[in-house]
Amino acid sequence: MSATYVLGDNLYINLTNKCTCNCDFCIRHTTDHVAESDSLWYKGDEPAKEDVLTEILARDLAIYDEIVFCGFGEPTCRLDDLIWISKQLKKKKVKNRIRVNTNGHASLYAGKDVSKLFKKCVDIVSVSLNAPDPVKYDNICHSKYGAGGFFGMLDFAASVKFYVPEVVFTIVDTMPKADQDACQELADSLKIPLRIRHYTENYDD
Ligand code: SF4
Repeated sequence: MSATYVLGDNLYINLTNKCTCNCDFCIRHTTDHVAESDSLWYKGDEPAKEDVLTEILARDLAIYDEIVFCGFGEPTCRLDDLIWISKQLKKKKVKNRIRVNTNGHASLYAGKDVSKLFKKCVDIVSVSLNAPDPVKYDNICHSKYGAGGFFGMLDFAASVKFYVPEVVFTIVDTMPKADQDACQELADSLKIPLRIRHYTENYDD
């Protein structure tokens, strides 16, 4: 079973099926794969970090823009492995930008601020904002941290900004316009760009 799959111009990494949320819109509710990938549900153990690295390096990386940690779970639930793989790729001087698509719960999950670990190995962190306030956030994301997941996500985004070249928030365009505007205001207040992405079942975070 493959730990990598292609979507658009990028190579995606499916590191884990663990997640701290159970989002209403998660494509895991409706499909088991993305684009041409195999099933992204791991039946047994998740792949060792060394095997994931080997699989990435076996690809012709010149044809991809970015290497993206995303997949059928929250990649920072395996943060140490994510950081190890990213550092190995940087050591091998791969030209691709390395992006992490995340729900922003890395520090909540670790029980401490882990944002510094992203320094010099991750180029862009894309944080799912999902909602303009903690109540709406919890109604959509059903985080294991309750409404606190919203504040933990905001804290992480504000912290990791000091350690990586680029941080963006994302929301989907199915959100009511008033909420989109409120998310824009929130993102502006944190000086983090907001990307409003078109909802598609081929995208998984
Ligand atoms: S959309 Fe992302 S954060 Fe939400 S449940 Fe799915 S994998 Fe987890």
